[in-house]
Amino acid sequence: MLPTSVLKTAQSEMLDWHGAGMSIMEVSHRSSMFTQVIMETEQLLRELMQIPDHYRVLFLQGGASLQFSMIPLNLMNNRPCDLVNTGYWSIKARQEMSRFGRVREIASGESSQFWSIPAESEWERHDDAAYLYFTSNETISGAQFAILPHPQGNVPLVCDMSSDILSRDINVDDFGLIFAGAQKNLGIAGLAIIIIREDLLDRSNPDAPTLLKYRTQADSCSLYNTPPAYAIYMTSLVLDWLKAQGGVKAIEKLNQEKAALLYQCLDDCNEFYHAPVKPDCRSKMNVVFYLRNKTLDDTFIKEGKLQGLFNLRGHKVLGGMRASLYNAMPLAGVKVLTTFMRDFAQKYG
Ligand SMILES: *Cc1c(COP(=O)(O)O)cnc(C)c1O
Repeated sequence: MLPTSVLKTAQSEMLDWHGAGMSIMEVSHRSSMFTQVIMETEQLLRELMQIPDHYRVLFLQGGASLQFSMIPLNLMNNRPCDLVNTGYWSIKARQEMSRFGRVREIASGESSQFWSIPAESEWERHDDAAYLYFTSNETISGAQFAILPHPQGNVPLVCDMSSDILSRDINVDDFGLIFAGAQKNLGIAGLAIIIIREDLLDRSNPDAPTLLKYRTQADSCSLYNTPPAYAIYMTSLVLDWLKAQGGVKAIEKLNQEKAALLYQCLDDCNEFYHAPVKPDCRSKMNVVFYLRNKTLDDTFIKEGKLQGLFNLRGHKVLGGMRASLYNAMPLAGVKVLTTFMRDFAQKYG
C-alpha cells in the first residue's frame, strides 16, 4: 500500500505540477523540471539510507527481476559466485545467474522448507567468489535475516532488498550492491533502484548490451534513455513521507511494533493459527500464517474484507495467508487485523 498523503499529493499535482501547467508525466525527461525530481529523489534516498559518496544510485526499468540477469552480466566476469538459498526469490535469481557462470550454493534453508535461514557461521564462503548473493527478506515464505551478513575479504555482498529496503537501519558500506523493485516499500511498479559501489561499475563485461551496463546508466545519471519518470516521482513522494515520519530509525521502531503485535496474536491463538517461520527468522514485512482448519480459508478472507482487510491470501505457491506490513501500513491497520483474527478464532475455534 501507499501512504494516503502520498496519493493525495499525487492527485493534487496531477494537472499542474509545481506551476508547470502540466503533470510531471508530460514534461520532458530532459527538462530542468524532471532533472530536479530525479536529483531530489536520489538526494533523499542518500540522506535516509546514509549512502556514502563512493556509491552510485541508479533508477532503472525492468523491475527487480531484471537485476537477476544484470548483476551476473556486469559483475561475474568469468568467476564463480556464492549464493545463500533462502527460498523463492533466491532460486529465481540463481536460475538467471547460472546462465552466466558457476553459482555455488554455500548454504540453503531448503531442508527446513525455507521456514528458517541458515546461520552465517555455517556458510562455506569462498575467497575467490565474484560476489556473495542473498535475499534479505523472502517475501513469499516470510523469512527475513534478523542480522544481515557481514562482508568477508574482498568479496562484495550483493543483496536483493526488494521487500525490506528502508524498513530498518542498515550499513550500506557493508555492501557492493543493493537493489530493490520500487513497488513494495519505495513507490510503484516500473522502477528498480540500484545502489552500487563505484569500483564495481568497471567490472562490466565490455560486450554487454549498452543499456544493460551499470557503467552506461551511471555515466548518464539514469537518463541514457527515457526513465520511468512517473514511478521516480512517486518514489520522491514516498521518501518525503518517510522523512516526515522521522526517517528509517523511526519507521523501524514502528515496524517492530507492528510485527510484534501480529506475531503475538498468532502465538496466543496457536491452536487456531499456525505461523511456520522459525521465530528468529520471522519477517517483519510479510507475516505468513495458516489456519489449522483450512476449510475456513475462504470464510476468513470473506469476513476480513468486511473489516476492510484486503490482500490477505498467501502466495499461490504456499497457500494459507500472508499479511504484508510494509512501511505504509499504519499500526491501526495491524490492530484491526489482530482484533479480527482473535474474534475469528473465538467464533470458529
Ligand atoms: C517482488 C520481489 C521481486 C520481483 O520484483 P519485480 O519488480 O516484479 O521483478 C524480487 N525479489 C523480491 C525479494 C521481491 O519481493
